[in-house]
Amino acid sequence: MPKPVIPVAVVQPRLAIPPLAREPGAGPLADTRGRGLRDLRISVTDRCNFRCTYCMPREVFGPDYPFLPQAELLSFEEIVRVARAFHGHGIAKIRLTGGEPLLRRGVEELVAMLHEAMPAVDLTLTTNGSALKQKARALRAAGLRRVTVSLDSLDDATFRAMNDADFPVAKVLEAIDAAAAEGFAPVKVNMVVRRGTNDHEVVAMAERFRGTGHIVRFIEFMDVGSTNGWRMDDVVPSAEVVRRVGERFPCVPVNPLHHGEVAKRWRYEDGAGEFGIISSVTEAFCSTCNRARLSTDGAIYTCLFADRGYDLKAILRGGGTDEDLSRAIAAIWQGREDRYSEIRTAETARARKVEMSFIGG
Ligand code: SAM
Ligand code: SF4
Ligand code: SF4
Repeated sequence: MPKPVIPVAVVQPRLAIPPLAREPGAGPLADTRGRGLRDLRISVTDRCNFRCTYCMPREVFGPDYPFLPQAELLSFEEIVRVARAFHGHGIAKIRLTGGEPLLRRGVEELVAMLHEAMPAVDLTLTTNGSALKQKARALRAAGLRRVTVSLDSLDDATFRAMNDADFPVAKVLEAIDAAAAEGFAPVKVNMVVRRGTNDHEVVAMAERFRGTGHIVRFIEFMDVGSTNGWRMDDVVPSAEVVRRVGERFPCVPVNPLHHGEVAKRWRYEDGAGEFGIISSVTEAFCSTCNRARLSTDGAIYTCLFADRGYDLKAILRGGGTDEDLSRAIAAIWQGREDRYSEIRTAETARARKVEMSFIGG
């Protein structure tokens, strides 16, 4: 494997906000490819207690890794200001992520603040589950609607090796049950499938969650960031996942719930529920991609594979008004051209990109 590049999180380069292409008006925004803005992902911390080998490999994210200093993190008030400005442009969904979002102290307060400011927004969170059992009740009471838990294997040894933090499967399963008991059912369960590492677990994972109401989503291993040693050979195409699951449990495709939904849904023919596949590598969904990302330190990324973000923090901390924020978001979105997965080539795959733990998965 090539030696990974060590990213320097604290000096991520920033893009200046471009000028407005046209007055945004009251209607929905559209980028240069006519894609709307529907979904905002907010990274609330760049830290994590896991070292998943495909996301934050320990040899890079070691004890000396320069995580963001506290002063660089957006405060909850700043996050809510940005989220409101996005809401003014019509976003319908906010996902809190990271790093591990439940490590951010008082995250349930942030949930409450976002819910109070925008009660109609679909407020969700993605977590590794390690602290979910303790926090599920408070998160629910604060207004969180849904939760996604990442779980890459049901085999304890495989899971511990993949999270590289010796964290047991049983605790994540308990967290899923606890979340369901607090009213988060159905829980979505994300499994990143990596050939030769956990792909032998695909059918077992489908079987474990069939009939529970929870929805497993099989995700293709992606070439995010520059440190996870991605190779195309490690990707298990979703079509293969569907074939393997379908051979054991016959299934049929289901229509998407809304435009731009990234997971393709499959239903078990015997009525035991459904699962999803996220084919980010083999079937790019750039043409309908309607997501923006806010990094922990206040930059807007318009693509998961972007190498830099637009500096909103300078507006927030430089005395900018809500109107300034709103116009900056409009200008960024109007100029958006991203379609990385559609044009993924050997060359772009080698380029240095921002880490997923930094801008939020
Ligand atoms: N720490 C939380 C968690 O693991 O759920 C939230 C952040 S994590 C970056 C969000 C999601 O991205 C997780 O489901 C994780 O498995 C997924 N992910 C991380 N690196 C990935 C990669 N290289 N390819 C595909 N999915 C990845
Ligand atoms: Fe942490 Fe989530 Fe990345 Fe795993 S996938 S290292 S749990 S941020
Ligand atoms: Fe969206 Fe970028 Fe992923 Fe394409 S590559 S789907 S534009 S995040």
